Amino acid sequence: MLQKLKLSDIANVVGGRLIGQDAVVMDVSTDSREVLEQKLFVALVGERFNGHQFTDLVMQQGATAVLVSEPVTATPRIEVEDTAQAYALIGRMVRRLFTGPVVAITGSNGKTSVKDWLARVLSEHGQVLKTQSNLNNQIGVPKTLLNLSAADQYAVIEAGTSFPGEIEKLGQTIEADVVVLTNASGSHLLGFGSIQGIAIEKGMLFETAKPNATVVLNADDASYDYWLGRVGEREVRSFSFTDPSATLYAKTVQETVSGSNTTLVYRDETYRLTLDRPGKHHIANAMAVALAMTALGFALIDVVAQLKHPEQVPGRMELLTSKNEAVVINDCYNASPKSVEAAIDVLALYANQTKWMVLGALGELGDQETAIHLGLGEYAAQSGIEHLITIGPIAAHAGEGFMQTKTSEQQVHPCQTKDEALAILAALNSEHVILVKGSRSARMEDIVNALKN
Ligand code: ATP
Ligand code: MG
Repeated sequence: MLQKLKLSDIANVVGGRLIGQDAVVMDVSTDSREVLEQKLFVALVGERFNGHQFTDLVMQQGATAVLVSEPVTATPRIEVEDTAQAYALIGRMVRRLFTGPVVAITGSNGKTSVKDWLARVLSEHGQVLKTQSNLNNQIGVPKTLLNLSAADQYAVIEAGTSFPGEIEKLGQTIEADVVVLTNASGSHLLGFGSIQGIAIEKGMLFETAKPNATVVLNADDASYDYWLGRVGEREVRSFSFTDPSATLYAKTVQETVSGSNTTLVYRDETYRLTLDRPGKHHIANAMAVALAMTALGFALIDVVAQLKHPEQVPGRMELLTSKNEAVVINDCYNASPKSVEAAIDVLALYANQTKWMVLGALGELGDQETAIHLGLGEYAAQSGIEHLITIGPIAAHAGEGFMQTKTSEQQVHPCQTKDEALAILAALNSEHVILVKGSRSARMEDIVNALKN
């Protein structure tokens, strides 16, 4: 933690009551299994565990105090109404002690990719605290901020949302200096009702940012104009593949299976961006990272030189070889409509091989489920994918869309089970490329693991 905190100050900040002796804590923890000496233990109430069960135990193990919302006897303790909310307020308290710039990132796709890439580029200029893996919710964000140390010079924080109002809370905790909003698409449609609902939700990240924050926006996103209307006094830096008036404009893009070359225009100067992985979404993410860097005071010319290697996260557009030498693109970590399209775009680059897409169901789409799957099937057919294998009844709708759009050579293989699909895929050799994609719940890694060399 950035500096030690007094229990009485914490009680003040969280609007709680301190019972027992005031003391100083070096850190805050929510995990009863950690070494808790000189720490404040926050008793969170989760679905599986209730931290209040462990308050006596953690005190025996040397914790300095506990923060609770249920009756316990341990002292010293801070009593509050809602321990998760108090945890967020302590996160903000520590954030406010941090004098370096804080970047917050949200969007439907690409949050972790942009977060990790920006942190990597920034770490060449100073010590960076970043969100570990995907800890982007009400617990993960304060947890990350509490990890700030005196040696950190920058913080890069990912903010995710699974219900309306979540980003607003996260944004209030983060109080960002720079906000990056990658895009708004139909991931987690359930709960938000519409893309507009998602756009409103994501926009809360800049509305809760500092009044003088810089906001990096995707000018190609359908919600761009809406966001512009809500940024207030904050400076906007936009990126676009289509609009030359954007702050950063990708004028020409050349893509091959091994990467891309893009001419960027920024303040009437042109720059060459060369990436060693294919995928237009990597170029979009590179532009978001580049603009965030300029917002932090770095010159674009230097930043572009640092942006060669897009983030490679396992299970995300990961290139593998099957036992039978087919190219396998493993993108099964998760799927939203936009990320399926992005993956199809990459698959379509394999001009000299036969292109296969294996699609498991996309989840959390509410009443849009059928229409979105139909649309993705159409998109795959239009993109020249030769074979579409669907797994299960929901993904089968993509097969219907594919059938309606395809030319005579293209084929759909509706499968009920992954084994059925594997029976077809195992035989494919180096003349074939297989993209495997589906939502987390579809567990499409079963296919990749079975195919893998
Ligand atoms: P989560 O909601 O799971 O935290 P995320 O927003 O952090 O997701 P990433 O983990 O960066 O997103 O990427 C998820 C998927 O989206 C990957 O399959 C990746 O290929 C794709 N993707 C990454 N960036 C973009 C982008 N800018 N546009 C569309 N798709 C993208
Ligand atoms: Mg993420």
